[in-house]
Amino acid sequence: MQRSVKHRINLDWRHPFDTLGTDFYSPVDPTALSQVHWVAKNFSLASQLGWSEDAFDNDMLSVLAGNTVAPSSQPCASVYSGHQFGVWAGQLGDGRALSLGVLDTPSGAQEIQLKGAGKTPYSRMGDGRAVLRSSIREYLCSEAMHGLGIPTTRALALVGSPDRVLREEIETAAVVTRVAPSFLRFGHLQHFAANGQSGPLKSLVDFLIQTQYPALMQLDPDATRYTALLAEVTKRTASLLAQWQAVGFCHGVMNTDNMSLLGLTIDYGPFQFLDGFDPAHICNHSDHQGRYAYARQPQVAYWNLFCLGQALLPLIEDQDMAVQALETFKSLYPAMADREFARKLGLEEVHTQDHILIESLLKVLAAEKTDFPIFWRRISHAVSQMRAKGTELAFEPVKDLFIDSSSWQAWLPGYLQRINGIDSHQAAAVMLRTNPKYVLRNHLCEQAIVQAKMGNFALVDDLSQVLSSPFDEHPRFEHLAGFPPDWASSISISCSS
Ligand code: AMP
Ligand code: MG
Repeated sequence: MQRSVKHRINLDWRHPFDTLGTDFYSPVDPTALSQVHWVAKNFSLASQLGWSEDAFDNDMLSVLAGNTVAPSSQPCASVYSGHQFGVWAGQLGDGRALSLGVLDTPSGAQEIQLKGAGKTPYSRMGDGRAVLRSSIREYLCSEAMHGLGIPTTRALALVGSPDRVLREEIETAAVVTRVAPSFLRFGHLQHFAANGQSGPLKSLVDFLIQTQYPALMQLDPDATRYTALLAEVTKRTASLLAQWQAVGFCHGVMNTDNMSLLGLTIDYGPFQFLDGFDPAHICNHSDHQGRYAYARQPQVAYWNLFCLGQALLPLIEDQDMAVQALETFKSLYPAMADREFARKLGLEEVHTQDHILIESLLKVLAAEKTDFPIFWRRISHAVSQMRAKGTELAFEPVKDLFIDSSSWQAWLPGYLQRINGIDSHQAAAVMLRTNPKYVLRNHLCEQAIVQAKMGNFALVDDLSQVLSSPFDEHPRFEHLAGFPPDWASSISISCSS
């Protein structure tokens, strides 16, 4: 690792923990990789950061590989703890992520992190590395989520190296550059609460509020402000979960250290977008109990929020206030989920009866594990064509998705009655903007990975392109919008990354 001359893009790095001191992080330099090369460059994100087209030059490659530390950057890894699979795991921390610092950009202050740039004081038994396979998944999925309009950490670049990394087999190393206003997790606060360090806990929470929730500064700097923070994180988490469920996203490792205090999707590991609709689907091969199965995610989020509430108790003091803030999840989440699913059905206004309509449809889909993305896209097209073709003909491609279509046919009249009186073109427009045509299915990731391992990054590029506008038609990429091949169901994704 070397210190570089100033890059021609003016990067004035600020320390991510500002004046907070070393209770919260350890200074650590990245460990260099050999023969580094670009795997992916995110020009669109770079431009949102105010960088020019030629930002991704060799100097930048060296910085984002962790081979050079830019002037004024003080890399550091932060400490956090957390509950993993429902059990208190104690201290974890950034074992393979390190922050280069915060940049003031046209999109606000953004922290830039390298994932896989070597060991940190929190690496425990790990090697501090990330393999190309999982880094491609993280890079593509961050950008797919962003394309879907779902809050997420972003991915600015992906750098590869032939350096060997041992997992189940020998793989090669990669570094993802992640970008977010903050990477603080529930586990950061849990860490100081669990150690009885209420001074540092308060400093960190105050810092979080000042930098990420400035509107709360208007409230009294006491229980009121901290309760409002808990309520706000609860709301953002409820909203995030409603969006995940509606798009069929399974996170796979919803441990409290993988829950963002900003309500972002963070830490892409064994995630999966559902192919067939199976509420009990478990995407993480290592999750033997199915704790993080698709249908359980909202409940798990609520459980995780209780852990956060517990961590904030030394500041809130009054347990009833904390519980009240947390309990808002119980009404917020169902309402938000109904709103998301109603929109998938072209309904911009949610009526009380819509919940039953949605639930009964999901049962129809679950019965045969109907392909989730294709069902929603086809029903969107059916609504757009029902006036021109008549309902029977327009809905035929949807009916064709079922082997036994009787329950679908029993459901449809209720829906047609519900949308009767709504402008079907307007409803279809909502649906086509809500139900993506392009989804980062597991088999697409796999294909991109297989090719990338052979040095061909074309599919990583193509997927980045279509997933950044997943609701649009991309005639050249029709083949990326089809059913999964048979082998897709045998893909096994574990925590190994
Ligand atoms: P995860 O399951 O990816 O959220 O990681 C849980 C914890 O293990 C975090 O503290 C990570 O930083 C750490 N960790 C995971 N993989 C590695 C690795 N290869 N080297 C060092 N730490 C790791
Ligand atoms: Mg993690």
